[in-house]
Amino acid sequence: MNYQQILDTIATEYLSMQSTGKVASYIPELSKIDPQKFGMHLYCINSGHYSFGDNNERFSIQSISKVFALTRAMLLMNDTELFARVDVEPSGDPFNSLVQLEYENGIPRNPFINAGALVISDILISQLDNPKEDFLSFIHSLTGTTSININPKVFASEKAYSHRNAALLNLMKAFGNITNDIETVLDFYIFQCSIEMSCKELSTAFMIYANGGKRLSDEHQIVPPQKVKRINAIMQTCGFYDEAGEFSFRVGLPGKSGVGGGIVAIHPNQYTVTVWSPPLNPKGNSELGMYALERLTTLTGFSIF
Ligand code: GLN
Repeated sequence: MNYQQILDTIATEYLSMQSTGKVASYIPELSKIDPQKFGMHLYCINSGHYSFGDNNERFSIQSISKVFALTRAMLLMNDTELFARVDVEPSGDPFNSLVQLEYENGIPRNPFINAGALVISDILISQLDNPKEDFLSFIHSLTGTTSININPKVFASEKAYSHRNAALLNLMKAFGNITNDIETVLDFYIFQCSIEMSCKELSTAFMIYANGGKRLSDEHQIVPPQKVKRINAIMQTCGFYDEAGEFSFRVGLPGKSGVGGGIVAIHPNQYTVTVWSPPLNPKGNSELGMYALERLTTLTGFSIF
């Protein structure tokens, strides 16, 4: 498979594409990003790295962090206990929606919407002495890059506008599904979202999900294969909020997006791929990112289906 040629084709097509998307502005610091940024990085298990554009520039990973958080929680707690506090069903609702939680007694639909990730943050705080340090070192161990850190401006900006996430936490605490105090959970959740990574670093970190739980650099087993299988299933069904069906339909790979404009997708036993384009469609997913991944699985002729 000539991946570089396929990526070059996508890069050329991008030049003639008009985006109708909008850069996220509800976190003011994110609105300052140049909407023209565009990068893609594919990391193939058998043949290494392929890329174009701004693939080495770090951006705000936002909700992509929810996959790392779930993984860490699944390594610390057994699945029965964990999934009693957060379900594994697609939500069909926007990522920051409050409505379902009221009907469903404070149990979030899945760990990849905000409510679910807030429960996972609460779990990690209860399980770990220093959750922030642990979270960063988990990402460092997956990438081999210790300079990965948060962007303090994005962190402060999201903190100042976190009323909706605070509302989710308050509602869940009223139902008894948050054990730590609200400020502590909110602070740790926003910390995770404000981490910055490049397309290349994300493709490298996500390799454990394509490679049966093993880090590719040394084949060290980081996550048991049974757990990876489950995480991938949740990415497939819940990775794109109320557009998870559309992403499956058009791209056909498990993945996760963030409002920073990044999307990571994996093809088990084949490759990981990350694309970054900040303008978002109305569902909060990168518009051109989705297009680029749709072209990838079309031009290669294979997806997981
Ligand atoms: N930090 C963002 C929020 O909580 C993450 C949302 C996202 O990337 N979809 O609103």
